Amino acid sequence: MKSPIVNELSSRSEQSARLSFTTWLHPRATIIVEVTKVATILIVEDELPIHELIRRNLQSVGHECRSAFDGREALDALAGGGIDLVLLDILLPEMDGFEVMRRIRGTPVIFLTARSGLADKVKGLSLGADDYLVKPFEMLELLARVDAVLRRTQKAGAPFELDGVRVEFESRQVFVHGRPVECAPKEFDLLETLIRNRNIALSRDKLLELAWGYDFAGDSRTVDVHIQKLRKKLSWEHRIKTVYKVGYRLEA
Ligand code: CA
Repeated sequence: MKSPIVNELSSRSEQSARLSFTTWLHPRATIIVEVTKVATILIVEDELPIHELIRRNLQSVGHECRSAFDGREALDALAGGGIDLVLLDILLPEMDGFEVMRRIRGTPVIFLTARSGLADKVKGLSLGADDYLVKPFEMLELLARVDAVLRRTQKAGAPFELDGVRVEFESRQVFVHGRPVECAPKEFDLLETLIRNRNIALSRDKLLELAWGYDFAGDSRTVDVHIQKLRKKLSWEHRIKTVYKVGYRLEA
């Protein structure tokens, strides 16, 4: 059973920004979104209101954002590294999105464009784009497509370190101050899910779905038991927070 991640925009300025772009925004898009991966996303869009709206929505579900307002800035940002995904407008100052796309190596791209012609869509995809969205699109659709591309493209990635805890995803090993800690397979799956969605409140049902799989027959107390074990093994009582009436959040 699917259960949404609850991630409410907190500050008044974010809420007012949301209200000022209601024609662009699905009314629930920034409040309830399915997210399985968080990432660093480069937004390449020269229209400031659209740029800001996209940024706020991505941030509201836990993504980190970098900004570029023309093609050259996009290439500079990519040269700096650390970008997991590029949202790339086609009509841009300095250098258009197609030209930027030709120079991107290895980073997933979703084209964002006002052009709806089939030729542009084919061109974008033939240049290697992972997906394509025609403006105006709903933020909910953008977030879903971002998540889908990230799930397809993100590999195990670099180890995660916090408070002397080191988690190596490829070898599935956990170390606390350099000493290996035994984690059962599901404990590791749960730990990885918390890390990949850190700072996001995840419901028990969502954790069951992500760490155990859709067909798991157990109940949400299974999550509680595994959370207690992880807190104890990693001394993360202060890191894995209980979110009242929702579930858990790794604060990192
Ligand atoms: Ca543009």
